[in-house]
Amino acid sequence: MRVINHGGRAGLERAGRWLDVEIASDGWFTHDPMAVYARWDELREHAREFDFSDAEPVDETQLLAPVPQPRQIFAVGLNYRAHAAESGLDLPEAPFIFTKFPASVTGPYSTVELPTKTVDFELELVAVIGAEAHRVEVADAWSHVAGLTVGQDLSERELQLSGPAPQQFSLGKSYTGFSPIGPAVVSVDEFDDPDDIALSGILSGEEVQRTRTGDLIFPVPQLVSYLSHILPLLPGDLIFTGTPSGVGWGRRPQRYIQPTDELVSRAEGIGEMRHRFVSSPTRVLGQGGNGA
Ligand code: ZN
Repeated sequence: MRVINHGGRAGLERAGRWLDVEIASDGWFTHDPMAVYARWDELREHAREFDFSDAEPVDETQLLAPVPQPRQIFAVGLNYRAHAAESGLDLPEAPFIFTKFPASVTGPYSTVELPTKTVDFELELVAVIGAEAHRVEVADAWSHVAGLTVGQDLSERELQLSGPAPQQFSLGKSYTGFSPIGPAVVSVDEFDDPDDIALSGILSGEEVQRTRTGDLIFPVPQLVSYLSHILPLLPGDLIFTGTPSGVGWGRRPQRYIQPTDELVSRAEGIGEMRHRFVSSPTRVLGQGGNGA
């Protein structure tokens, strides 16, 4: 099952066509894109009987974030071996977690504002929580994941890294539009192996990131279990699972996103997002001044 947000309405997509969940279910489900995650298994059952013969073509210009208002977004740093090496850091013993604030979510084909000249790309697989997960074991964790989508953990590196410790990961990665996801949330059962998905990121025609999620240090079930022992994970919550090597900050010379760039983010079995950018300088208090 592939769930999309078509112009603010929850939809099911199949082969480039889509059905409105509320209409196809005769009102059994609402059109609210946030409401499908708590009733994921029920929707999957109903979806078998949906009739796609009069489904409409998907209009890409209408596609919004499939999870537009998650209550919690977790993100993981240094979760691929090669990326830990490029950052010059030892492999972590437990996941390194930060948050991306929910108002930073945007859709799969939006234009993102660049507040500075040091905004970086981080291609990631994103897990979307279905049934609430509280103190779940690793072996049971996939059953609490509704599906997977593609994400970019866009990162303003100056704010994230340059200040005195502790570093401002959560703010540097939460500017408006810095959490694009999409184009669809694809249910876990659609993947041959949900623990080994190919990802690739292309910046203005150059492939800058490529990996398989089989190389994750802490795979999705470990992340769900670990986080769920700290607090409940709620339907529609997002986990950005970490980025592979190749980010702009780790390159010599460094390569940050320019207003002329197009960023394409792909995942096997999910699809691709495409983002364009516009310069929109923002002043950050306490940055570049006297350190106050
Ligand atoms: Zn990241």
